[in-house]
Amino acid sequence: MTAFIFNELNFDNHEQVVFVSEAKSGLKGIIAVHNTNLGPAMGGCRMWNYASEALAVNDVLRLSRGMTYKNAVAGLPIGGGKSVIIGNPKTDKTPALFEALGEALERLGGRYVTAEDVGTSPADMAHVAAKTRYVAGLGDSGDPSPFTALGCFVGAQAAVKHQLKRDSMEGLVVALQGLGHVGYDYARRLHAAGAKLIVADIDEAALERARTELGAEIVSTSAIYDVQADIYAPCALGATLNPDTLSRLKVKIVAGAANNQLATADIGDMLRQKGVLYAPDFVINAGGIIKVCYEYLNKPQADVEAHVREIGDTLAEVFTRADREGRSTSVVADEVAEARFKR
Ligand code: NAD
Repeated sequence: MTAFIFNELNFDNHEQVVFVSEAKSGLKGIIAVHNTNLGPAMGGCRMWNYASEALAVNDVLRLSRGMTYKNAVAGLPIGGGKSVIIGNPKTDKTPALFEALGEALERLGGRYVTAEDVGTSPADMAHVAAKTRYVAGLGDSGDPSPFTALGCFVGAQAAVKHQLKRDSMEGLVVALQGLGHVGYDYARRLHAAGAKLIVADIDEAALERARTELGAEIVSTSAIYDVQADIYAPCALGATLNPDTLSRLKVKIVAGAANNQLATADIGDMLRQKGVLYAPDFVINAGGIIKVCYEYLNKPQADVEAHVREIGDTLAEVFTRADREGRSTSVVADEVAEARFKR
């Protein structure tokens, strides 16, 4: 028998993968429920013009599995899942498309809860909500990005304490890539704590704002990997930690918001051997999902900040254990998550 799904690296014992289609709206989607041991699977809905259905399957499995790890390590009472809609988010969106997705979620009876993601918006989620209550992040109480930025900041503080034996950011140099929703807010916090910023973006207006408001030095999108700095903060793209950038980075710490920062899993150990302390992406960038989860579960919003700040404590534990065991922080963080969700 030809292996198609079950031997896929990212299939990793998914509990359920559902292919959904609806003729009238043209919906073609995949809902992946990786693990619900800790609670209903939660993760956003991505809309993307995938070049092939196989790529869509692979993406949803990878993202869904990643949500199980992120949600578990953040100490949330939810599991991991994700959905994708195959289509062009610029031209193919209709209310009926998202209503059809809502009906599909309703049929799953709450095993999976969706939210916005790349290619979808709070407005799209409002159409999903017309057909199901299993949807979060409807935009009622705003953007989760500031909480992601807060998590990055407390994560960076923990990394500085561990690696540089310092309690203060004063005078440290941070090379920050991407001044978007998360990156700018993170930069603002770093600046307020006395750090010096070197920034790169493709958005000229964001760069100019960082220069005037935060005194940031601007470098090109390529030069950001070559600057002399204490911390590299990737807040734009995935896979920026790869053999090329590894040979160029001169930093002691990597602490940023981007998803999937390691181009391949073995880069985690290469960073360790190079003496760079890596704050695993799915640990440090969980502030946004913490905020969305509290909103969905109707937990007190006043408690969100304290929960996000625990990211610093979790990272401190991961760093200490990785040192003690001579292993990469990414592998140790995976194990912390697995200890929580695996039965
Ligand atoms: P965003 O789209 O608001 O910001 C991304 C920024 O990166 C933009 O300013 C963009 O111009 C810039 N950029 C694009 N290409 C670049 C390049 N080549 N070099 C430098 N800058 C470039 O996105 P965001 O919401 O701020 O998220 C940033 C990262 O964090 C993403 O990887 C996202 O998946 C991840 N993340 C975000 C959240 C959240 O709460 N928003 C949560 C977890 C993870």
